[in-house]
Amino acid sequence: MKEAYCKRVLVTGGAGFLGSHLCERLLEQGHDVLCVDNFYTGSKRNIAALLDNPRFELLRHDVTFPLYVEVDEIYNLACPASPIHYQHDPVQTTKTSVHGAINMLGLAKRVKAKILQASTSEVYGDPLQHPQTEDYWGHVNPVGTRSCYDEGKRCAETLFFDYRRQHNLRIKIARIFNTYGPRMHPDDGRVVSNFIMQALAGNPITIYGDGTQTRSFCYVDDLIDGLDRLMKTPDDVTGPVNLGNPVECTMLELAQTIVDLTGSRSTIAFRARPLDDPERRRPDITLASSLLGWQPTTSLREGLTRTIAYFSQPEFQRQLGVSHDLPDGMLYRPAAPVQDNARRSH
Ligand code: NAD
Ligand code: UDP
Repeated sequence: MKEAYCKRVLVTGGAGFLGSHLCERLLEQGHDVLCVDNFYTGSKRNIAALLDNPRFELLRHDVTFPLYVEVDEIYNLACPASPIHYQHDPVQTTKTSVHGAINMLGLAKRVKAKILQASTSEVYGDPLQHPQTEDYWGHVNPVGTRSCYDEGKRCAETLFFDYRRQHNLRIKIARIFNTYGPRMHPDDGRVVSNFIMQALAGNPITIYGDGTQTRSFCYVDDLIDGLDRLMKTPDDVTGPVNLGNPVECTMLELAQTIVDLTGSRSTIAFRARPLDDPERRRPDITLASSLLGWQPTTSLREGLTRTIAYFSQPEFQRQLGVSHDLPDGMLYRPAAPVQDNARRSH
């Protein structure tokens, strides 16, 4: 819906999965959108439909370098989000989170813009408190293979609060829990895209570990709605605020649901569990609900059905044969005793 006042809004990471949906939403509201991306994991395909819009502008730029533009609001989403991608070049991941935050906060300070940080449930690490509330400080390994992302995002939160305390910046921090939907990268290794691509190809579904670990999956439209509401809160609302769907499921249940919805004949293949892979994750969204009047409205089956329709498009056919197994090497533990190609149990 169009808003009365048109703003100039910068979205870093705007060509990525979440960023492209956010750009679309902001344009629908009548704002001018500057999408900044270095295309590390994002793609022009995600924003192809926006390129002809005169209110949309695309700038290839790496947020680890300073940026001089004039904007009213900044959504800082630039950062690879999939474990395979953020562990591929961990030093760059930390630089993107930390230098990127410093550069975007510096920009916000110069032009007096309001700035929102896409933080993550990973700041809770492998949580000892369940479900996770915003006042939980987390259980994070500072020297592991996930640390470049977890600690980078934690440091970015610190910077946001210090810029507020020191320079009185208007900040908002969203702690985003696992989000899925159309425009996820088909090969980015995240569980929803992996399972759907494997199910559509009839390949074994790769479950890491025994599949009893849990996540809580939020459909992208709900998440974008949450980010939009958070940005519109009064200046004294900073967060951090959890944004995610509190319905928790095991990876086995997720695999089963995707197999059912695709009508696939895929079997389950159990693989080694990634290092420091969190055991359980579920957001407590009491704060988001009271501050933003927000809660997700899309059920997992409904969201998965839309995502499956997206990945069923002809352009993804050639990617169906791609292996979605984890890369060998130092990032992951040697295989624990696991069954391979076990028959699925239903
Ligand atoms: P994504 O990988 O699809 O998007 C990230 C975008 O940032 C890509 O377009 C990438 O090219 C761009 N980028 C990366 N490094 C950059 C740099 N140095 N300079 C400029 N652009 C750069 O991931 P996503 O799922 O859309 O995630 C977006 C943001 O939300 C990330 O900050 C991520 O940490 C956060 N987040 C996402 C989830 C999720 O489940 N999707 C969960 C928690 C947090
Ligand atoms: N996972 C899995 N099979 C896959 C990809 C991921 O079993 O093909 C598991 C992974 O070990 C983790 C969960 O799914 O326990 C979510 O993984 P993802 O990489 O999507 O996100 P994150 O670990 O960052 O929550």
